[in-house]
Amino acid sequence: MKLPPFEYACPTKLSEAVALLAARNGDAKLIAGGQSLVPMLAFRLAAPTLLVDLRKLPELRTIDVSMNGVVLGSMVRWCEILADARLHAAHPLLRAAVAQVAHYQIRNRGTIGGSMAHADPAAEMPGIALTCEAEIATVGTAGPRVHKAADFFLGPLMTALEPDEIIVEIRLPPWPAQRRWGFQEFARRRGDFAMAAAAVWYDQDGGGKARNAHVGVIGVGDRPQRLTAVEAVLNGRVIDAAAIAHAETAASAAVDPQADIHASADYRRALVGTMVERALKSAGNGGGS
Ligand SMILES: Cc1cc2nc3c(=O)[nH]c(=O)nc-3n(C[C@H](O)[C@H](O)[C@H](O)COP(=O)(O)OP(=O)(O)OC[C@H]3O[C@@H](n4cnc5c(N)ncnc54)[C@H](O)[C@@H]3O)c2cc1C
Repeated sequence: MKLPPFEYACPTKLSEAVALLAARNGDAKLIAGGQSLVPMLAFRLAAPTLLVDLRKLPELRTIDVSMNGVVLGSMVRWCEILADARLHAAHPLLRAAVAQVAHYQIRNRGTIGGSMAHADPAAEMPGIALTCEAEIATVGTAGPRVHKAADFFLGPLMTALEPDEIIVEIRLPPWPAQRRWGFQEFARRRGDFAMAAAAVWYDQDGGGKARNAHVGVIGVGDRPQRLTAVEAVLNGRVIDAAAIAHAETAASAAVDPQADIHASADYRRALVGTMVERALKSAGNGGGS
């Protein structure tokens, strides 16, 4: 399918990219890996008059791991996250979720910033950002801004970004080595978008009780969701079979999915409970997906 006509720019300075966006007043689009935007152009779901390519901005490609957490440049590709050995310890939940993103070829081009800006309700990275209380650092004509993930996703393919705003970094808080975590996803075929997925993590007090529990889900609403009702079930309890069963029921009750061509609302509601149950079981087994 042919793309609609557009002009193309490939700036070598971030300020130049911002100026190019601002000059078109909402009629220009950034292109990162092109894995979501190009299909959108082909289907005429987007028809910008200018594409601003971010590929010549090396400052957007860095992965920084320190005691302050993990900072991912917006042009970091999925394959680079999976190849970075430091992230095994520095953010195992991130790695596990990214391993479920799309297919090999798409992971070689798709970027974390593109995924955050695209804001697909079934995409893994927005779910991880929300569950981990990430910050999204941006720059636009109004200067730099920092968005909390909880305020960033406004609906399907909708974010708090202004038309002239560029995601620069995604910042994930530090990850203690003892943290319990699990990530579980169900898709019809490996590499497809999730029908539902759950990310869970919690710390433990001296008596083995959960504290600071975080539970996030994707694929069951118009944006990623934190399930605070499930977190309340977990906090202050040993995560045993009874707690997991209670959490599963609470997760199904906490979501209000829509039926679509892939599944009924009831199926998705049951599925999200099962994903939370499995994620908690894997967390109890030392963490994993
Ligand atoms: C067949 C297929 C299967 C897929 N499966 C999955 C999946 O299972 N899970 C998943 O999460 N994703 C999946 N994807 C999407 C894939 O992960 C994309 O790579 C990602 O969503 C977008 O990243 P990109 O770099 O390709 O962005 P692009 O397509 O280049 O851009 C996407 C949008 O983000 C904007 N944008 C890009 N970078 C920035 C920035 N730095 N600041 C502000 N705005 C920006 C663009 O203007 C555009 O609106 C799939 C894609 C395909 C084609």
